[in-house]
Amino acid sequence: MEDGFVQIDTVAEYQRRSKLASKYGYPFVVMTALSVIGLIVLMNVDSIDPVMRGNLFFAAVFGVFLSMIVFFLIQSKYNRCPNCEQTPITSRGAELDPAACPKCGARLRPY
Ligand SMILES: [Zn+2]
Repeated sequence: MEDGFVQIDTVAEYQRRSKLASKYGYPFVVMTALSVIGLIVLMNVDSIDPVMRGNLFFAAVFGVFLSMIVFFLIQSKYNRCPNCEQTPITSRGAELDPAACPKCGARLRPY
């Protein structure tokens, strides 16, 4: 019974953290998407000054990388297992909603 209580706590706490990670990470997902759209538009527009095009291209690539880096920093800050404080990333990569922590096995999602 006590064990059950501990598990429910890690679930509730992880769900809370994961919501925060999504809330703060969301604007940077949008920013990444907008930068990628900007890049695609740039590659399909011919009537643009080559120097201007180069600058915009650089800005869009920079935007993609910067927003992705900030997104992953936010994920690693908030998206942590409440039991062992590790980011629950498996060898196959990050799972959006892992059932249990791959590092310590603590339950992170309700049944
Ligand atoms: Zn853990």
